[in-house]
Amino acid sequence: EADFAKPISTRIMAVTNQKGGVGKTTTAVNIAAALAKHGLNVLVIDSDPQGNASTALGIEHHSEVASIYDVLLGDMSIREVVQHSEEGPALSVVPATIELSGAEIELVTVKNRESRLKAALDDYLSSAEDNGEARLDYVLIDCPPSLGLLTINAMVAANEVFIPIQCEYYALEGLSQLLNNVQLVKNAFNEVLDISTILLTMFDRRTNLANEVAQDVREHFPDKTLNTKIPRSVRISEAPSFEQTVITYNPSSPGAIAYEQAALEIVKQGAK
Ligand code: ADP
Ligand code: MG
Repeated sequence: EADFAKPISTRIMAVTNQKGGVGKTTTAVNIAAALAKHGLNVLVIDSDPQGNASTALGIEHHSEVASIYDVLLGDMSIREVVQHSEEGPALSVVPATIELSGAEIELVTVKNRESRLKAALDDYLSSAEDNGEARLDYVLIDCPPSLGLLTINAMVAANEVFIPIQCEYYALEGLSQLLNNVQLVKNAFNEVLDISTILLTMFDRRTNLANEVAQDVREHFPDKTLNTKIPRSVRISEAPSFEQTVITYNPSSPGAIAYEQAALEIVKQGAK
């Protein structure tokens, strides 16, 4: 049984930041694995053509695999493409393949191009209910490093925005653009969308800069920034090469413990 409390309703979080390399994928897969480890029913949607979240969760995603691309641009349902991850008893994944790299452009001419993912996810959630299956507690959508249509689809499908921020010099650069986009999506498509969570990643306590950035982010977003900071850790960065999250690969490492603590903080925010 779950030792992390279940949310009142399914929490759908777009893990996003248009900067690359800030820890989006690492955060999405490790938070998902931590939630699943504690008994929650979790779906990760890989929406980055790189497919790094699929790799990290040990999911097949070569070019012939049915994927998020077929959901967004074909007529497949999430049920037809979802795979189970060995990372958790109730952790499933919608993989991304390299085909997705053309999707931003292909979507432009598609009807309801901003809400393709939302339609598919709503359908999946309600079909699970109709089939009497266990309700999903968390859906984490791993976004690509851009503010294009894939990210817009994630934000339209989500009810929360989860922003990982790397503790480095340029951390806050580009953030106002991201906040603007969240507001645009909120106004045009999804009034419930809310930035619920900011997580400081790759934190190196020995440097003044990291401490200053962390303090800065906290001052700007006092209610959204999690207390837990994710330390820079070799264990975290090498886990994907074993097709594992650090939660499984090295559960007693500081990185794994930090991600579990961050997951618990998210659980305690309650349903949004
Ligand atoms: P994004 O998805 O935002 O592009 P990633 O999660 O892929 O970022 O992280 C970028 C790189 O940094 C990856 O090689 C990842 O393994 C590494 N990384 C992420 N978080 C940490 C951390 N806490 N400590 C060390 N390396 C990390
Ligand atoms: Mg990524």
